[in-house]
Amino acid sequence: MESTIDQDCPICNSESGLTLIVHSSEIPYFGEHTEMTLVCDACGWRHTDFIPAEGRKATAWSFEVESSDHMSVRVVRSSSCTVRIVELGLEVEPGQNATGYISNIEGVLKRFEDAIGLILRSSLEDGEEGAENVSACEELLRSLSALRVGEASVELILLDPMGHSQILHEEARSWELDSEEIDSLAPGPQIPVIDSSDLDN
Ligand SMILES: [Zn+2]
Repeated sequence: MESTIDQDCPICNSESGLTLIVHSSEIPYFGEHTEMTLVCDACGWRHTDFIPAEGRKATAWSFEVESSDHMSVRVVRSSSCTVRIVELGLEVEPGQNATGYISNIEGVLKRFEDAIGLILRSSLEDGEEGAENVSACEELLRSLSALRVGEASVELILLDPMGHSQILHEEARSWELDSEEIDSLAPGPQIPVIDSSDLDN
């Protein structure tokens, strides 16, 4: 289903409306869900999110990543989800531009590596002042590559106040977030329209 919604683009403020593409499908273990993408034709901004058919509660997911086999474990990350790698002190909070994705643990690590790579490159340009950041980034990249080949282990945590995110593995643990935890999390982008009851037609 594709439609145009009368909403200004949150990035370029174009008033020509956003294209909304909606389709429902089944993800193994995650269940029936709706994938929803908003597109601005003016600036190319895209926002994808996944909305489970059943209402979910604010949930945390935790998984011990400890072997190279775990790289293929599937992860559904919605745009309201904070991702943490506890032992490495890494955290991605959902910013205004956060977007949902379905990937696997290797893909999640790759996103961290890409972000660290950006910081590393800009720190290198800072010369002596960036030296401390450079060695911290290099250390993190080494830890992440050790993780990929099963030579290290860490706890991967997803914290999602909307409860739309999940780690799809039988050893993944989940628990409900309390209101204090929910208040401490970044809420993610404030995207208009998104209420699954609007998508039922
Ligand atoms: Zn735009």
